[in-house]
Amino acid sequence: MTAAFSEAGGGRARKHWGWGYADLQPDRAGLEAIAAALGERLGLGDGRIEQPVGLEHVLATVPRTRLRPPNSLADLFSDDPAERATRSLGKAYRDVVRGFRGRFDHVSDLVALPGSEQELAEILEWCGDSGVAAIPYGGGTSVVGGVEPRLGRGYRGAVTIDMARFNRLWDLDLRSRSARLGAGIRGPDLEAQLRPHGLTLRHFPQSFEYSTLGGWIATRAGGHFATLRTHIDDLVESVRAITPIGEWESRRLPGSGAGPSPDRMLIGSEGILGVITEAWVRVRPRPTHKVSCGVQFDDFSAGAEAVRALAQSDLNPANCRLLDPLEAATSGAGSGRTALLVLGFESAFAPVEEPMRLALECVREHGGRPGDQVGTGERGAEAATARGEDVVDSWRSAFLGAPYLRDGLVACGVLSETFETAITWDRFAEFHGRVIEAARRAVAEVCGGPAEGPGSPRISARFTHVYPDGPAPYYTILAPARRGGEIEQWDEIKAAVSEAVIAGGGTITHHHAVGRDHRPWYDRQRPEPFAVALGAAKRAVDPAAILNPGVLIAP
Ligand SMILES: Cc1cc2nc3c(=O)[nH]c(=O)nc-3n(C[C@H](O)[C@H](O)[C@H](O)COP(=O)(O)OP(=O)(O)OC[C@H]3O[C@@H](n4cnc5c(N)ncnc54)[C@H](O)[C@@H]3O)c2cc1C
Repeated sequence: MTAAFSEAGGGRARKHWGWGYADLQPDRAGLEAIAAALGERLGLGDGRIEQPVGLEHVLATVPRTRLRPPNSLADLFSDDPAERATRSLGKAYRDVVRGFRGRFDHVSDLVALPGSEQELAEILEWCGDSGVAAIPYGGGTSVVGGVEPRLGRGYRGAVTIDMARFNRLWDLDLRSRSARLGAGIRGPDLEAQLRPHGLTLRHFPQSFEYSTLGGWIATRAGGHFATLRTHIDDLVESVRAITPIGEWESRRLPGSGAGPSPDRMLIGSEGILGVITEAWVRVRPRPTHKVSCGVQFDDFSAGAEAVRALAQSDLNPANCRLLDPLEAATSGAGSGRTALLVLGFESAFAPVEEPMRLALECVREHGGRPGDQVGTGERGAEAATARGEDVVDSWRSAFLGAPYLRDGLVACGVLSETFETAITWDRFAEFHGRVIEAARRAVAEVCGGPAEGPGSPRISARFTHVYPDGPAPYYTILAPARRGGEIEQWDEIKAAVSEAVIAGGGTITHHHAVGRDHRPWYDRQRPEPFAVALGAAKRAVDPAAILNPGVLIAP
């Protein structure tokens, strides 16, 4: 491995399976605590803790590379089996389980680490001339098979193009309040480079720690704020990408009515049209006023009515997450008897007590019972942290810790995965009922376990984002796993819930992207003329069809 590769990883090895760095794996005592809590609180798991297949065994099974890069570019590539294997699986449950069991079904032949657009263009040219697939790679947190080299026939091999060296803040336009940033920059580094200027992008997906600006743009990521500018779509001012036929750069404009938007075409293109190298993004001052409050409701539907009223009130809370009783209990923020609304306001400019007062008035009219407010005033953030014990804090810790916990659940024999969608308010109640029912039926058939009480599967829901015209529901399933058969179990459940989502008029994804795994349902969701137009655009900018084959459109 060259020094550049080690530097790109910050000199710190990523776990070969699952979430995070190798040195952040829960130790034996941590896993025993998870297994005990699962048993005591949920009746799930059999108390047995399995160990992942070790990296040395994985490396022994990684196929030799089929490719040899040209001498002139050799320094930009690695054929190191560990570098290749760790970038060949994303971070969905089915990826984590496969990694845990040492099943690296498709491994890239080479990893490329370009340091400039010129080098990137040369890599793409070589791929095109050699019949080699090129897979753009940001943080590798895809949950839809977006970075796995599952190619179909006709390729001599695959190269994963890791954008880690495009990791700088290049330019700041303080007057327009925009920043030019490299596409490979990860969430924490991006915020660290903006912080000295008192600025933030304020885009915090749950995968923030490892995902990158380029990945967010390529997948149309959603941050954790519930309303207004929280999607990367709204934060992008212009994008620059290298396509196999040349550079694609849009003008920096606050808005434009000049035909279909070139940015909108790249945002969400998931690496099939070009490799995003940088973007100008809209930044803002860091908020200094914050207040949050947990509100209890008798049930999820009462909470949903309150959230609808709030979403249509123009108050635009920063946080407006409604958790059903089971979800609130699982995250340790509720008793399991009531639904919980995590409500928050923040501003860099003005106190937020008044919008919170109005929001609480609104939720009370819908049967909501607010708890204590936390973090009122200019020193809100510090005050909120100091109190520590409130339900909002419990929810936030559970939210950020979830990906680490999920790895532990795999070891403890518990199936744990999520799916998400969006639907308009007029159809929400019926849609939600049908989706939950489809999930219940599929989980009961596939996983068994008692219908209720300890050991029963848990299917819970929350809203991740809310709009005036509808919510984005997000579902979590926890169920007994059949060790060694988890992938087949999840694939069956996923197919059943995806059918229910599409039949009910929802979207196959609100923010997780399409990738390879959602494609069968995305094919049915999108208008046919649009599918034809997207295919034609792909052929025009990527004539040799090298960019991420199998993602978004059939290979
Ligand atoms: C635990 C967990 C929590 C998550 N939470 C959220 C969430 O809150 N909100 C959300 O939206 N998503 C979430 N995701 C999904 C995932 O993090 C997002 O899709 C994220 O945007 C991917 O960024 P990445 O840098 O890791 O991209 P990667 O996983 O590396 O790539 C994703 C896709 O984008 C393409 N791509 C990456 N970089 C580029 C580039 N520079 N140019 C062109 N194409 C590129 C890849 O080819 C691939 O198709 C979560 C995932 C996990 C595992």
